[in-house]
Amino acid sequence: MFKKILIANRGEIALRIIRTCKEMGIKTVAVYSTADRESLHVRFADEAVCIGPPPSKDSYLSIPNIISAAELTNADAIHPGYGFLSENAKFSSVCRDYGIKFIGATPEQINSMGDKASAKETMKKAGVPIVPGSEGLLESVKEGIVLANGIGYPVILKATAGGGGRGMRVVWKDEDFENAWDSARQESGAAFGNDGLYLEKYIEDPRHIEIQIIGDQYGKACHLSERDCSIQRRHQKLVEEAPSPFMTPELRDRMGEAAIKGATAVSYEGAGTIEFLVDKHRNFYFMEMNTRIQVEHPVTEEIINYDLIKEQIKVASGVPISGKNYFPNLHAIECRINAEDPYNNFRPSPGKITNFHSPGGHGVRVDTHVYAGYQIPSNYDSMIAKLICTAQTREEAISTMERALSEFVIEGVKTTIPFHLKLMKDPNFRAGNFTTKFMETFVFTE
Ligand code: ADP
Repeated sequence: MFKKILIANRGEIALRIIRTCKEMGIKTVAVYSTADRESLHVRFADEAVCIGPPPSKDSYLSIPNIISAAELTNADAIHPGYGFLSENAKFSSVCRDYGIKFIGATPEQINSMGDKASAKETMKKAGVPIVPGSEGLLESVKEGIVLANGIGYPVILKATAGGGGRGMRVVWKDEDFENAWDSARQESGAAFGNDGLYLEKYIEDPRHIEIQIIGDQYGKACHLSERDCSIQRRHQKLVEEAPSPFMTPELRDRMGEAAIKGATAVSYEGAGTIEFLVDKHRNFYFMEMNTRIQVEHPVTEEIINYDLIKEQIKVASGVPISGKNYFPNLHAIECRINAEDPYNNFRPSPGKITNFHSPGGHGVRVDTHVYAGYQIPSNYDSMIAKLICTAQTREEAISTMERALSEFVIEGVKTTIPFHLKLMKDPNFRAGNFTTKFMETFVFTE
């Protein structure tokens, strides 16, 4: 087992990883930018190394700075968390060159799944259903229009390097194609330094349901059931839950099997997520694979009593998995608490937290790195906490969530708490009756 793990991340996920390491008797090294000096992950780690100024590219995205910190502290493994370098093949490969174990996918696996257009081809070959669309990247507007007419509008143009819902445009007719093409290319070029686009049939009113999988170094993989992430705003997740209210045992078996097929096709090592779109007839289509731990992993942990970070570390150190699949026993919901103003278009609201009281009690888990007096830097993501509530049934989990949200006090900045409180009362949400379109019609005013 590893003796010392460096956590190449910040915020709640850095703290989340430190907690598991402590329980496993593994020493930890935090890295931080000068904007994060006062963050809890710095305080809770055994050692901490400053890796640069606030901009991510000079700190959390700087491979040389992070590797130097690992060398300096003699860390034998690096956990990348999510975002930043977690799906960076070069980083995974540099770690390998330095003899430091990257707790995540191999460079080869990241490469094969990171490019979304080629990931689809790999999955198709493995027998996983995919959304009909272009084979690989589109060369021109003309080719796109011909293809769109072939599969039928609406279609969606997507950035092959995409992430976080950026670089996507839905197109309904020929006349709009060129504009959508230009703006998607521009957005993805600016965000990812890669403006390659591919095209898919736009599935109307789908659910976003993803399967958590874990694979070991010996080619074995199992699934840990699903998460429903259909409550999104501009393709970004706001609320996640497990199991999905739309799931049936039969669909879970089919999707689970497909996910395992996909994972074994690339001999997947570590924790990963296969994202699917599911239409109202319960047809499901592969969308992408995330080769890292996800923000919403706690809902899975809660319903099957399983520490995903611990299993990631064990698998990375060479421990084999049992190979059995896991099925839900409970119901868990996660609300992302962002420092954003839900009354003003979810505008980021950085600043100082003047008062902070975290909810508690049975069935309540709060993953956060903030506290009263904490200054939220404007350089990073606006998520400041995750509130996860678990109960025997979905109805009870919603009641626990309402109660916990009403106890949560965060003052000094605007947060998404009022939005979540309203959502928990929504009759369609309560009935489990929602798709990725839900937020388009959800009315939220003061
Ligand atoms: P990202 O990596 O940027 O998050 P995804 O491929 O995971 O992009 O897609 C994000 C969201 O966009 C999905 O959850 C879904 O709501 C929507 N989406 C993506 N592809 C399609 C499609 N073919 N049809 C309908 N909605 C889609």
